[in-house]
Amino acid sequence: MYEDDPGSLQENVPVLHPVPQLDTKPFPTAIAEATPQPGDEVGPGTEAFRYWVAADALSRASQTWGPLVPSGTQWHPMVGRALTAYLNAGNDLNAFYDRRGLRFFRRTVAGVTVAACESPEVVEHGSGHAVLDALRPQLFNAASAEAAALHEAFGDISALLSSLGLETMRIVVLAETQGDLELSSRASRVAEQLGWAIRQGHPDSVDPDCLRNLSNRFFYRDPVQLPPSGPASTISSEPHSFSRVFSGAFLKIVAGIFRQQEARDPDGLAMAAKIAGQLLVDAVVTAPVVPGYFAQVAGHMIAADYNRNGGRYGPILRSAVIRHGILSLEAAASITEPEVARHAAAMAEATPSAGDGEGLTAVTVHGATYGVTQPITLFAPAEERRFGVAGSDPAGGTVQPADPEQVATSYLEDLFRRDRVYVPEEHRSDAAFVDGSPSRLRTHEITQSMAGEGLALVRRCFD
Ligand SMILES: [Zn+2]
Repeated sequence: MYEDDPGSLQENVPVLHPVPQLDTKPFPTAIAEATPQPGDEVGPGTEAFRYWVAADALSRASQTWGPLVPSGTQWHPMVGRALTAYLNAGNDLNAFYDRRGLRFFRRTVAGVTVAACESPEVVEHGSGHAVLDALRPQLFNAASAEAAALHEAFGDISALLSSLGLETMRIVVLAETQGDLELSSRASRVAEQLGWAIRQGHPDSVDPDCLRNLSNRFFYRDPVQLPPSGPASTISSEPHSFSRVFSGAFLKIVAGIFRQQEARDPDGLAMAAKIAGQLLVDAVVTAPVVPGYFAQVAGHMIAADYNRNGGRYGPILRSAVIRHGILSLEAAASITEPEVARHAAAMAEATPSAGDGEGLTAVTVHGATYGVTQPITLFAPAEERRFGVAGSDPAGGTVQPADPEQVATSYLEDLFRRDRVYVPEEHRSDAAFVDGSPSRLRTHEITQSMAGEGLALVRRCFD
């Protein structure tokens, strides 16, 4: 199998791994297609090879997150006991998680068949969505650009940490970066081959050498203030684009923790990746879902470090999130040990896998603006902020986060401006703006509200 990705020019060399175990706790997985005979001579581009690449990546992603999550964590109830992967879900350059499984698409571009399931990083990204959904189900329907972007960052971090789980990859990455993990490397460059394929048709929509690179300098802006889309060289409120602010900081955190390890070798890097992953899991379990969600998760990583490591990595965490503007200087300095202790009881009460709607508040908007016949209910992020922290204002100081209603309506407007909402025929007004292109992935739909009158915006999938 491939260890991380086929590579832009399929330059990565397949290696032999033991037959992966899929049915392992706490995150059992399965593959819909029939199991090929292991040991047969197979190579890239064959269905058997794709099966084993996907199986190995599913297994490694489960092994990455399993030891880090609270005991008792399991997939979202709609997923069922095992998360099932469908390796040939149709013609597209994409993959998604939809609470019924992981779906991987494929398309032939310039004579090369690019199957999303043949990239371990794409598979591990999908697993990341499923793991975060298990930990924080309310993020699924939260009408919030930052909540959606944190999901995308978690997916890319899942790919990063799963790659760094392999000793061979740690050796490659340490050689490539000469030990400075902040630099671009095979682990920081996510999905080189899928990026190549997308670039052939949309040259400005992905990085020059991969889909997204965690080695970046994107600085936080309140997504409410950002355009809904833009070239890959800029940051927009589109969740994959905006996710790079957080995943970029996370790579710096891994790099910083590694610098502090006694053994600055492959073992030390394994340790650094594990420590950083643990702080992130602790943070997403405890951080309330609020406007300014990145800042909350970052603040809770600093708090988790006090609880787990006595604050050993606090300076590294602060530095990384400050460099990406996720916390302002003032906000980062405000999370001190006494401040964390003051909130300890409240944080201990946070339970993973709470209800889908917990912490969200219903906001109703006029349907007419969106070409929809009835009012639409959105689920706005409305928990109470902890630590009172927020991101950097580029002009200096701390940004004032938008209110939950503004976050939710801005999110809905952006979804429509990107044509990502499926509106069934019966809910379209005379002024509907639906181009009907069947090939565009609609991540959301307008559906009859479960809670009573009118319609609601619900998510179909994360891609
Ligand atoms: Zn995704």
